[in-house]
Amino acid sequence: RGTVVLAATPIGNMGDASARLVALLGQADVVAAEDTRRLYDLANRLGVHVSGRVVANHDHNERAKADGLLDEVERGATVLVVSDAGMPTINDPGMAIVRRAIERGLPVTCAPGPSAVLDALALSGLPTDRFCYEGFVPRKHGERMQRFRALKAERRTIVFYETLHRIAETMDDLAGVFGPDRPMALCRELTKDYEEVRRGGIDQIRDTVIGNPPRGEMVLVIGGASDEEALAVEVHAGGRVMDVPQLA
Ligand code: SAM
Repeated sequence: RGTVVLAATPIGNMGDASARLVALLGQADVVAAEDTRRLYDLANRLGVHVSGRVVANHDHNERAKADGLLDEVERGATVLVVSDAGMPTINDPGMAIVRRAIERGLPVTCAPGPSAVLDALALSGLPTDRFCYEGFVPRKHGERMQRFRALKAERRTIVFYETLHRIAETMDDLAGVFGPDRPMALCRELTKDYEEVRRGGIDQIRDTVIGNPPRGEMVLVIGGASDEEALAVEVHAGGRVMDVPQLA
C-alpha cells in the first residue's frame, strides 16, 4: 500500500519550502493540486521536476476525486496533496481525501510547514496558550455581526482570515461588538517583502485602516475577553443585569 501525504507549501517566501516538500514533489506518483498551473509554477521556482501525474483537486471536485486517488494508494502509490499556499485542509482543499482515507483504513501523513494561522498568532503578541481559528470573516454584514456577537465572551485568542475588499466594514463591526479597546493584530503579507503587523486596540487599528488601507493577504487576531467582559456578557444574556455592578 502507498500513502496519502498532505504537504504545506510556502505562503509567500519560497525559502519556507521544506526539503521534504521538494523531495515529495519530485518523487510522488500522483500530485493532487488545488490549481495545476500554480503547482507547476511552484515546482519551477523550487527547481524540481514533477515526474508524477498531476491532477486538479479543488473544492468543487475533491469529494468525487477522493476514491479514485485512494484506489491508487491501495495499489501502492504515494499521492501528494497540496493547495495553492499553506497547509492543505485549512480553508483549502484536502479534507475530503483525509476523511475518505480514514474510512477506508488507508495511511495518511503530513509534511507540515507554513500556515498563516500560526504565523499570525505567534507574531500577534496575544496569548497563544489557548486560541480558536474561525476561518474567513463572513462576507455579509448580518452574518458577520452574528458571528462576532457569538464570540464576544470567548476567552481564547481568536484568529480570522480576511480579504482586503471588506476590511473597513469588518473593522467597524469588530469595534461595534468587541468595543474600541479590545487588543488585536492585523497581520498582512506574512513571510513576504512587505510583511507588516499592526498591533493595538480595535479603534486604533481601524484608524490606520482608514488612513492607510492595507493591501494583500491578511489575518486578524483578536484578543480574548477578559474575565470581567466574559462575565458581563453571560450575565446580560441570562437577564441578571443587576449582578454586573458587583463585578466592577
Ligand atoms: N491554507 C492556507 C493556510 O494554511 O494559511 C490558507 C488558505 S486561505 C484560502 C487564504 C487566506 O489565508 C488569505 O485570504 C489570508 O487571509 C490568509 N493568508 C494566506 N497567506 C497569507 C500571507 N502571506 N499573509 C497573510 N495572510 C495570508
